Amino acid sequence: MTNTSETLAKAPADMKVSEEVAISIQKMNKWYGAFHVLRDIDLTVFRGERIVICGPSGSGKSTLIRCINALEEHQRGTITVDGTLLSSDLKNIDRIRSEVGMVFQHFNLFPHLTILENCTLAPIWVRKTPKKEAVETAMHFLAKVKIPEQANKYPGQLSGGQQQRVAIARSLCMKPRIMLFDEPTSALDPEMIKEVLDTMIELAEEGMTMLCVTHEMGFAQAVANRVIFMDQGQIVEQNEPREFFNNPKSDRTKLFLSQIL
Ligand code: ADP
Ligand code: MG
Repeated sequence: MTNTSETLAKAPADMKVSEEVAISIQKMNKWYGAFHVLRDIDLTVFRGERIVICGPSGSGKSTLIRCINALEEHQRGTITVDGTLLSSDLKNIDRIRSEVGMVFQHFNLFPHLTILENCTLAPIWVRKTPKKEAVETAMHFLAKVKIPEQANKYPGQLSGGQQQRVAIARSLCMKPRIMLFDEPTSALDPEMIKEVLDTMIELAEEGMTMLCVTHEMGFAQAVANRVIFMDQGQIVEQNEPREFFNNPKSDRTKLFLSQIL
């Protein structure tokens, strides 16, 4: 593991979790063809929670995250985001996608567009935001992730860490209430991991509801209020970070932690 816990900015311990439900998942199951990839997932996420999801490769972490914003379809059970039931109804999918931002391992920026254009594209074309306002919002969030001076460059001219911060800014331009992160630092060189994690910590401090798939256990200890361990398509164990790391209950969790810590 990368021990980031000492170097990361500490998130304040009193960050509030609301009683308002942000995401509710009940008995959710998903298959890829005959392969049963997610099994009876039950998960309630309250507004303001910072949840870290960990588990071995292939355990279904990405699939779970992708089901929450309907990048993947589930076949059984329910997913409700901000009170909207996720079904195959396209109207609901649009509404949920506008509430939920997503950041991937491989940034997924448009290489032929400038940083600023990457950030204004969806607000202008999907949200019909006037261009001037979209540019102002983009510059606000580029300043927030500390790279406003890169606005007119192309993604290929930026470091991996800078590109990932653009990806975060681009998501924020859609004003999401929930942010999903799928291994946002896994493709980065070690010296760039911290700058991305610090950006995520700032978001957490502002009360953003966050679900992060990550192997950065230092981040989990510093920022998460809950850590979820998945294996073979199931949520095996979940707890607040201190208990999770110091006193894991299941043998599968113990084995996983012994391999990464
Ligand atoms: P994780 O993110 O925990 O590594 P994934 O959610 O990516 O796990 O994958 C869970 C399982 O589903 C793996 O066995 C993977 O091979 C399989 N899988 C993922 N995506 C697909 C797909 N599009 N079609 C078929 N199988 C898939
Ligand atoms: Mg994955």
